[in-house]
Parts: sequence; C-alpha cells; structure tokens
Amino acid sequence: MAKRDYYEVLGVSKTAAEQDLKQAYRKLALKYHPDKNKGNPEAEEKFKEATEAYEVLRDSKKRASYDKFGHEGVGSFEGFGRTAYSDFSDIFEDLGGFGDIFGSFFGSSFGGKGRKQARRGADIQYDLLVTLEEAAFGKEAQIEIPRREVCDTCGGTGSKNGSKPTVCPICNGSGQIRQTQGFFSISQPCSRCHGEGHIVTSPCKTCGGSGLIQKKRTITVKIPAGVESGSRLKITGEGEQGPNGGTAGDLYVVIHVKKHEVFERHGADIISLINVPFPTVCLGGEIDAPTLSGGTAKMKIPPATENGAVFRLKGNGISYLGSYGRGDQLVKINIMVPKKLSSKQRELLQEFAKISDEQGA
Ligand SMILES: [Zn+2]
Ligand SMILES: [Zn+2]
Repeated sequence: MAKRDYYEVLGVSKTAAEQDLKQAYRKLALKYHPDKNKGNPEAEEKFKEATEAYEVLRDSKKRASYDKFGHEGVGSFEGFGRTAYSDFSDIFEDLGGFGDIFGSFFGSSFGGKGRKQARRGADIQYDLLVTLEEAAFGKEAQIEIPRREVCDTCGGTGSKNGSKPTVCPICNGSGQIRQTQGFFSISQPCSRCHGEGHIVTSPCKTCGGSGLIQKKRTITVKIPAGVESGSRLKITGEGEQGPNGGTAGDLYVVIHVKKHEVFERHGADIISLINVPFPTVCLGGEIDAPTLSGGTAKMKIPPATENGAVFRLKGNGISYLGSYGRGDQLVKINIMVPKKLSSKQRELLQEFAKISDEQGA
C-alpha cells in the first residue's frame, strides 16, 4: 500500500502551523490509541501512521525535506517513534491520565519495567592551596565546600509535603529507554525523568523539586606529608548527595603547593641558597642554615669552598609520601662580596692581594 501524505494523515493543510499540527495529532492519538482500541489492528496502524506524520512535520528540518522530496526525503520510519517519542509527552500532559496510557504503550514496546534508578550525587573538585611546609610535613585542613545536599523540607523526594511523585509515563518507571537500531539495542537514561523513573508533579518549595539544596559544609581533610602539586585526595562520599536516596558522589581535593621564597623543591629534596661571607669560604667555618621546619642547622664549611658548592643535609627534606623517612636539604653556597669596605678592611685586602701576587696565587 502506498504511503499516505503526512498532511493528509493529520488532516491539516500544507501551511499548517506547529500548533495546528499538535492539535491534530493529539486528536488522532486520543482516538486511535491502542490501549483504547484493544484488538483493533486498524486503529493501531492509524495511531502509528499519525505518530510518524507528526514526528516528521513537527521537526522543521524534516518537514522542509518532506515538502521537497516527499517520503523519500525523510528516510525510513520502520522504527517509528523510537527517536523522538519521549518528547511527545508534553502534548498529553494537560490531558490528565493520558500520558500514562501513552507511556505504557511505549513502555511495553521498548524495554519494559525495571528498577527505579536512584541518581548518584555528583563528584566535587576542590582546589586547595598549601604551603611547602604543609606539603612537606602534612596537615589537617578545614575546608568549606559548597555542595548540594538532601532537602530537609521534602526529605529529598522533591515533592511538596504529602504529595507523591508519579511514575514516569515515558519509561514506565524504569528510568531507562531502550532504542533499537538495526542490530543494536542501546539503553539510555530516560530524558523525561532523567533516569529517575518518576516525575515530581507538585514540587517542594524549598528545593524547587530537585530534592537537593545548596549548602556549605566544613570538612576536615588530612593532607598526607609529602604531597605534591597536582596530588588528588579522594574523600569518598563527601561529594554532592544523590536525590531520592542515591549514593553521594566523592570529593576530590586537588593540592596546589605554593612557591616558597627560600626553598625550591625537587621531589623529596629541597634546595636552598645560603650567603656565606668571603673569609668563611676561604678559611672554613660553621654557619647556620635555615631549615624547612623553621629552625636552623649547623653546617661545616671546609676551607677553600668555591662559589656554587653544594652541601647535603641528610634527612632535612620533604617526607616521602606514604612511607617513612625524608629527603635531603641541599645547600648551595653563595659567596658574599662585601659591598662597602672600611679603610681598615681595604688596607688589609690590599695587603692580602699584594702577598697573593708575590706568592703567584
Ligand atoms: Zn522516565
Ligand atoms: Zn525539597
């Protein structure tokens, strides 16, 4: 049998506006719905025919293509209703229970019933800036994170006190839509109820029906000694809460280590530069090197130490992440050249230079 013209099927003119299409389809769908015409294959055919026609004409691109090329222009519709039928539910919303009938028809055709899906809460990322000392030795930090939590007013249902959400007419409560294309069958979350399987009809005023409200929560985070910039700490269950008893997401604290004015980090080792007076490097001596823990460490400078020489202070570096021990502190020598000389210093240095020349040093 030749395919009927879509405009003819819906009983509208070729210039019909979107609203006219919608009305015409609604009328036909109500009349020929299979649930109202049990055991009447003709009605089912008419219902499918009208749905297919509406599906094409409501889409301005498909409609333009159909106007130009006829049925050839919009391809095969063997799997009618499988691409867009979920969007149709709004048509029936103001018709009371019809949405449920519509849904159950498709529900039985595609996928059937399943368990209600409780949505998992979203994960949260929190960027935490720490000092090098905090990264080196670890710290307990209090962080305040904004996150969505279960609404106290409705207990997370999203419905006004007392009222109950209705079963989603599109997925029949399963929260999933199965689409079959060729050999493939793909399950996707239902776009009408976002995979929840039900729809809030009278939303809670506090949360607007989402079941969640924005809150600020202070959480204690243990920063382990030895973390580096980019380290990610996972705190299970401290992300956003899931509506309707869904499990909470996770909190990821991403560590950013501030640049230190004195110490430069290289893995578990730290490097610092220390100014040493000219006579000390010549004659040798002892200096106090500042350490990461805030104190100083005595360091021996051997005689005739050159500029840029590096000395190692064992175990004065950063804690190894997840194990015992610490890296080292590397102290690099920077010889200080006196900027101003007193006449006495000048005199002695001139004397020093003179003797050096004589000795050929
Ligand atoms: Zn649904
Ligand atoms: Zn609420």
